[in-house]
Amino acid sequence: MGKKSKKTKTKREINVSTKARANRSRLKVNGGVFVYTGAISAGELAKAINIPIGEVIKFLFLQGKMVTINTILDDELIGLVCLQFGYDFQKQNIVPAEHFEELEINDDPSKLKPRPPVVTIMGHVDHGKTTLIDAIRDSSVVDSEYGGISQGIGAYQKKCHGQKITFIDTPGHEAFSQMRARGAGVSDIVILVVAADDGVMPQTIEAIDHAKAAEVPIIVAINKIDKPGSNPKRVKEALLAHDVICEEYGGDVLTVEISAKKKTNIEGLLESILLVAEIKELKANPDRFAMGTVLEAKLNRREGPKATLLVQNGTLKKGDFLVVGTTFAKARRITNEHQKVLQTAGPSTPVSIIGLSEVPLAGDRFMAFSQESEAKTIANKRRLLKETSERSKSSAASLEDLYNLAKEGETQTINIIIKADSTGSAEAVRASLEKLSTEKIKINIIRASSGGITESDVLLAEASKAIIYGFNVRPDAKTRAKAKEDKVEIRLHRIIYALIEELEEAMKGMLAPVMVEEVLGQAEVRKLFKASRIGTIAGCRVTEGVIKANSPVRLIRDGIVVYEGKLASLQREKDAVREVRLGFECGMTIENYNDIKENDIIECYQMVEQK
Ligand code: GDP
Repeated sequence: MGKKSKKTKTKREINVSTKARANRSRLKVNGGVFVYTGAISAGELAKAINIPIGEVIKFLFLQGKMVTINTILDDELIGLVCLQFGYDFQKQNIVPAEHFEELEINDDPSKLKPRPPVVTIMGHVDHGKTTLIDAIRDSSVVDSEYGGISQGIGAYQKKCHGQKITFIDTPGHEAFSQMRARGAGVSDIVILVVAADDGVMPQTIEAIDHAKAAEVPIIVAINKIDKPGSNPKRVKEALLAHDVICEEYGGDVLTVEISAKKKTNIEGLLESILLVAEIKELKANPDRFAMGTVLEAKLNRREGPKATLLVQNGTLKKGDFLVVGTTFAKARRITNEHQKVLQTAGPSTPVSIIGLSEVPLAGDRFMAFSQESEAKTIANKRRLLKETSERSKSSAASLEDLYNLAKEGETQTINIIIKADSTGSAEAVRASLEKLSTEKIKINIIRASSGGITESDVLLAEASKAIIYGFNVRPDAKTRAKAKEDKVEIRLHRIIYALIEELEEAMKGMLAPVMVEEVLGQAEVRKLFKASRIGTIAGCRVTEGVIKANSPVRLIRDGIVVYEGKLASLQREKDAVREVRLGFECGMTIENYNDIKENDIIECYQMVEQK
């Protein structure tokens, strides 16, 4: 093992050590917490917690465990030893470097420093989001330290009472949810803009849903108070119905009355943001290699691929080697929104960088590495991984996941979106499903409303890994296609009871995750009729079970399956029927298949979840 870390001239912590990648356990004792990543020997443990090995061996011997310095300890023994010698302990999963977004960053608490809040502005169309973004951008609290003309890079920072606030300036929930769908929750606070003259509108509610699903606190900015017909009180009352409870109604949601157009009370809004940020105690470790998310990226004709990155932890330095999404980059030049060149950028800073080999996607994660070769290798691996995973995109959430969670006995939240034929039934379904919550599995309804299932539902479901339940409503073809593409599960029901039962079974872990085939019945072909327009009609007799019109079938000849498909028609006498039972005669045609012969067997089956 070459001492790679010696080559690193910087003091910053390396996010992923080469050792961890090689699946060697990495030991770290932090403020009384022993953090380990895998199998370790008694000797290694004793050294890490600074206890003579003899004492560790003796202690374990008294527990009835014979170990030597080289014995590999299991998690239970590691825990026992740690507790005995006054350490807390924590196991970290080894995350290969190419999956860096899954890394659990455990920074030493003493290294954490407050960081600016990252704020997104959402709200209904025309309620004044863009006007507000502009008003904040050139509000009177301008920082004179930057001279340059501000450039839309997707985000900017603002100062209020000497404290910075980062604003993401793509308004609307589309950008927000798309980021989240890509696993990047970048916002700490959502400003919900509601026009005082218009009140709570559909996209206001959607924005609330998104913020809640992301567990991001909301500050309500009641806008357009300069307008004669404005009624802030009505807005606050209307928000109550959506569980956004303002302070004067006993809740904890701050409201600020503003006029974005007249720039009234913008400072009050900024102060509220600082207040919420303070409560949230937002912190990061500036003393580590940078990691964060791509907010925007495009190809610049002069400079090549250019991206706006939001540094979320650590400090980005000029010349850093980055993996951005699946792309390698050397941060050749770092600039802020005023085109000022920066040498470093700390947590919550949005910056523009050039020096990328390709244009990444918004929502891609990035991480800095100490070695160029390492970053290049990881970028390459990620590209390969992406190519393979795109072929087998995993689902947003499914009942099967729920079943597996139930089985593993883990406490988990399952997010659900309910769409129903009326507001009343949506609420009824919500109430019944919420009651199903148990200690182990929490049912979290992130949206319950009336109307058909729309693409906006699918978007929210994908972003928050939710299942969509349709009650007496259906998605249209476009929505269905989007759900299929995003692997969002849509369950449709017509009876509340069936819906509840299905969910209940899944929660109990009774719903089998494996789909198995169950034969429903068989029919023997007795006679054939040719009809010029219909094709070959098989005159059959059901010899076993039942034949169902809508179930898949296979054609068996001499024990060999010669065709699999579905029935085009199933008839008794001259009437189309849903099913034909054992012993009865019927006529069938198979979709797109005419080569049926006498004595063939038509077998009808269904796919069922294995109990
Ligand atoms: P967005 O669709 O939410 O981004 O809304 P815009 O910012 O484009 O604003 C929609 C319209 O409302 C524009 O004509 C704005 O000038 C107007 N507007 C925005 N804020 C205010 C305000 O505080 N008072 C008044 N009277 N009009 C406003």
